[in-house]
Amino acid sequence: MGTERVGIVGAGVMGAEIAGVAAAAGLDVSLVDAEPEALETARSRISRILERAGTEPAAAIELTTDDDELSDRDLVIEAVPERLELKTRLFRRLDEVAAPDAILASNTSGLSITTLARATSRPQRVLGLHFFNPASRMRLVEVVRGDDTSAEVLASATVLVERLGKIPIRVRECPGFLVNRILVRAMAEAYRAGGDPLETDAAVIESGPAPMGPYALGDLIGLDTLGAIQQDLARAYGDRFQDGGAIEAQTAAGRLGRKSGAGFFEYAQEADVGKRAQRDQPGADAYYLGALHEAALCVGDHVAGVPEVDLALELGAGWDHGPLTWADSQGLPALVERMQSLATDGQERYAPPAELSSRATADRRFRRG
Ligand code: NAD
Repeated sequence: MGTERVGIVGAGVMGAEIAGVAAAAGLDVSLVDAEPEALETARSRISRILERAGTEPAAAIELTTDDDELSDRDLVIEAVPERLELKTRLFRRLDEVAAPDAILASNTSGLSITTLARATSRPQRVLGLHFFNPASRMRLVEVVRGDDTSAEVLASATVLVERLGKIPIRVRECPGFLVNRILVRAMAEAYRAGGDPLETDAAVIESGPAPMGPYALGDLIGLDTLGAIQQDLARAYGDRFQDGGAIEAQTAAGRLGRKSGAGFFEYAQEADVGKRAQRDQPGADAYYLGALHEAALCVGDHVAGVPEVDLALELGAGWDHGPLTWADSQGLPALVERMQSLATDGQERYAPPAELSSRATADRRFRRG
């Protein structure tokens, strides 16, 4: 079955952008929000996306507060605020309103797809479609398989994502999914290692594939948002997501990053972003080592395959190449040795993942060529 009629619930930052992308791809779109004002704001956002895509503004898109309009949709994407009880209630409602064979998707950044799916009578027809912000420009979509999601539903959703001009990456559900899990681990390790933020960011850019350092990135995401994700992941995975209190120290002082004018950096006078790193920075080293450690755990846990992990960081975080290609370039035995010595030196969280040490021993790189 093709997906021609798409419904989107929640016309905020993400929902409006996803609706614009779907309309620009020629799909029949219904966008539902509880608030009429949200629909008005969405309307101008969607017009801009359609204009940029060179599509007629009159393209089939309906904006409504009436969720009964979702009854003829092939697929409904939920993009309401990140609160489990709100989303659970909505999934129950969508299960009643939508046709029995419709697919229900969530754009959640971190809530359990399996839990949302089990609030419905069709858990095998529920999955995650995690778009990145801004959805009209970011090409990556994590296609998240919950415990009950069927292969057929994953296949249909993957085709839809491609039709939207996006690149789907299949991810098995785990807290943080793929991109956020690896990036937030890397950021937490960098903060925990300490050092000067400006020097650390410069060293990260100079010494590896990331386009931006962990401090500038934290300020960009917003330190309140980042702190909430980091705490969720620390609850799920334990010590390796602890950041040494760096985020909390900023948020407690009201420094939330760019949006509040200050975070790790002051934004009144633009920081010296072009600055070159003076010497080796422990935070930069920790950033890449942490990213690799988490990436290897993801591969070992079958969250995603090797090429997908690298592609996720390239598309989702703008890296020149992913952490596994980076590891190959550094030499796996040397990296395993460093992790091993950190682990025996009181940082047990760095114990080398089996996926990494077995490759190092067998002289088997992650990527060929
Ligand atoms: P937002 O607050 O901008 O928009 C949410 C919209 O949902 C609002 O317009 C609100 O009126 C509407 N809404 C609330 N309850 C509703 C209901 N019961 N029925 C219909 N509409 C309802 O939120 P957002 O930033 O677009 O985030 C939406 C989802 O996308 C969240 O799960 C978030 O975690 C995820 N996400 C956000 C980003 C990001 O950077 N903002 C990135 C990826 C994923």
